[in-house]
Amino acid sequence: MRIGIVTAILLIGACQETRVPVGPMPGRPRFDGAAAFALVEKQVAFGPRVPGTSGHSAQLDWMVARLDSVAPEVVVDTFSHVTAAGDSLTLYNVLARFRPEASRRILLLTHWDTRPTSDEAQDPEQRDVPVPGANDGGSGTAVLLELAAIFGATPPPMGIDLLFVDGEDYGPTIDDMLLGARRYASTVEALEARPVYGVLLDLVGDASPRFLQEEYSVQVANVVVQKIWRAAERLGYAQAFPNLVGDRVMDDHVPLNGVGLPTANVIDIEYGPGNRYWHTPEDTPQNVSATTLEMVGEVVTELVYSGG
Ligand SMILES: [Zn+2]
Repeated sequence: MRIGIVTAILLIGACQETRVPVGPMPGRPRFDGAAAFALVEKQVAFGPRVPGTSGHSAQLDWMVARLDSVAPEVVVDTFSHVTAAGDSLTLYNVLARFRPEASRRILLLTHWDTRPTSDEAQDPEQRDVPVPGANDGGSGTAVLLELAAIFGATPPPMGIDLLFVDGEDYGPTIDDMLLGARRYASTVEALEARPVYGVLLDLVGDASPRFLQEEYSVQVANVVVQKIWRAAERLGYAQAFPNLVGDRVMDDHVPLNGVGLPTANVIDIEYGPGNRYWHTPEDTPQNVSATTLEMVGEVVTELVYSGG
């Protein structure tokens, strides 16, 4: 009996090993990972996108111009925040709305700002250096900007609100983080057409992707989690999107769930071996993978065009 069980387990393992990505479903728009990767490089070339810096304002102009060219409605929400240290920040949430008339809407969001400090750098001398933000800020923004082009060319079956939130990663403590998401959350109740659910993309470019189901999302927005992971499975990406619950992460989805907008976080919290690139100067394009960006872009494309 014991041998039988072991054989069965090995067979299940073998089946999973031979499952290969099948690519986009017939009739779905194609998501181009190389194009998304070029957008990561473009953002990093602006310099760190820390509120108040030239890189931040250059990226804002570029992002808004890009979205204006494909979305029927682009809204920039400018707001301010005084940090625990007494600094006053001017912050910008950018919202691009596709099919603005549609009453059934899905929210897709990411943060576009980058962290002012490399808190996790091994060398203490480097901890004051801003992160380049290729993965942390850059990857989610690149995927959503590519999706914007897709939604512009092939109208989605429902309304889509693409939200780029600012001030997620300012810090150093949580009081000065998630600023854009908190701002958006404060407006949700008054929205005329409130999204039925949200999908947050954060740190979606690691070369060895492993998207565990984030614990808080599973607890409060499991319907959304299951929609995303089922879409990944249909595309043959079950290995990168396993049916396993991972750690709880404090991120932009928390304020949204807090105001009753069920939102799942798609996040790979191991960036590089042992998470060695996260919040360090090593968060560069060379540590981001076009293949992973494509996989995540395809999953969201499949989610949207299969009816959400
Ligand atoms: Zn971060």
